[in-house]
Amino acid sequence: MVEKSTLWIDEALAQLETRQLRRSLRERQLAQGAVICLDGCELLNFGSNDYLDLAHRAGGDAVEAAMRAAGWGAGASPLVAGRGTEHAALECELADFEGTEAALLFSSGYAANVGAITALAGRGDVIFSDAKNHASIIDGCRLSGADVRVYRHGDMDHLSRLLEDSQARRRLIVTDGLFSMDGDFAPLPEITRLADRHEAMLLVDEAHATGVFGVQGRGISEALGVEDRVDVHVGTLSKALGSVGGFVAGRRALIDWLANRARSYVFSTAPPAAAAAAGRAALRIVRQQPERRSQLLQTAATVRQALVDQGWTIGNSQSQIIPLFIGDPGATAQAAATLHARGLFVPGIRPPSVPEGESLLRISLSYAHDDAMIGRLLDELQGIADGTLT
Ligand SMILES: *Cc1c(COP(=O)(O)O)cnc(C)c1O
Repeated sequence: MVEKSTLWIDEALAQLETRQLRRSLRERQLAQGAVICLDGCELLNFGSNDYLDLAHRAGGDAVEAAMRAAGWGAGASPLVAGRGTEHAALECELADFEGTEAALLFSSGYAANVGAITALAGRGDVIFSDAKNHASIIDGCRLSGADVRVYRHGDMDHLSRLLEDSQARRRLIVTDGLFSMDGDFAPLPEITRLADRHEAMLLVDEAHATGVFGVQGRGISEALGVEDRVDVHVGTLSKALGSVGGFVAGRRALIDWLANRARSYVFSTAPPAAAAAAGRAALRIVRQQPERRSQLLQTAATVRQALVDQGWTIGNSQSQIIPLFIGDPGATAQAAATLHARGLFVPGIRPPSVPEGESLLRISLSYAHDDAMIGRLLDELQGIADGTLT
C-alpha cells in the first residue's frame, strides 16, 4: 500500500529530475584502481580519492593477522570495550606521524569533524568557517549551537573583519587545508596569524592532503610550514591512505576532552580492528615511499598546465584535484556522459555538492595513472574543449 504521508518524496524526486539534479547510485564491480568496472563498464578512473593507489593493497597480511586476532566487528564504542590493540597502536602511530602528543581514531572523517567541532564550540561561542568547507564541517558547525560566521572562500580581509567584530569568549576558526572541490589551499599562514592575533582556536581538515602534501605527507599545514600553530589536526584514513576512519591529532588534553565529549566518538561503535590495521600499513607506506606523493604531484602539475593550455577554467587548483568549471548542471552531466561513452570516468559535480551555477567536472589524479592514461584523458578533454565530441 502506498503511504500517502510520504508521497511528497516522489514529487520532490521528480523535481530534482527536471532540474537535472537527480543522482542515481552506481555499482562498482572489482577494486578501486586506475581502471574500474562501473555498472559493468570498464572505465579509466579519474573519480576516486585513492590518490596513492593503496585502497586495494593496504593491509594485506596485517589485515589478515588483525582479523585472526580480533575478528571483524569491534562490538562496542571505544570507551566501553571497542578500542582494541590495533586501534591503540594506530592512535600512537598517528600522533607520531603528525608530530603531536596524541591522536584519536573516529569511525570516519565525517564523524571526526562533527565530533571535534561540537566538542570545542557551543552556545555563546563563535565559529568562523570558510564558505567552501566540506559538508562535515558545515554539519558540525550547525550541530554545535555556536554562532557561525561564514567568510568568503579564502578571503582574509573578510575573516579579519568578522574576528574583529566578535566579542565571544571562545572562538574557533575551521577550514579545509586542501579544498575538496576546487583543489586549492587555504591561506594557512595568514589564517594562523589571525588566529594568534585574536586568540582563536584553529582546526584544519587535511582529508585530501594527508599522505599527499608536505615532505612527511602530513598535509597543507606541513607544506606551508604552519603545523605548530594548528590546534586541531583533522585527517582521514579513507582517502590517500586507502582504508576507512577519521582522526584528530593534537595536545593530550584536547584528545582526552574529545574522548570524553565528542558525541560521534562516544556514541558510535569503534571501526573494525582490521580497518585500523590497514590504516597502520598505509601509514608505513606513506612514510617509506615518498615517491608516491612526489610523482603524483608532478603529474598533477603537468596535467593542470595542459588543461589551461586547452582553454579549460581550473580556478586556483594547486593539487591532484582539478576542477573543470562548466557552470550549468545539464552541460556538466552531458560532458561527464560523453567522457563515460569514451571509456573515462570523470564525475560531474552538481548542487548540492557545489553552489548553484558552479557545476564542474572533477578530475582526481592518482599515483596509479601512467603516461598513457594521462594522455587518453587529455586527448578526450581536448576533444570536448574543441566541441567535436558533444
Ligand atoms: C571526505 C572528506 C571528509 C570525510 O571523510 P570520510 O572519512 O570520507 O568520512 C571530511 N573532510 C573533507 C574535507 C573531506 O573531503
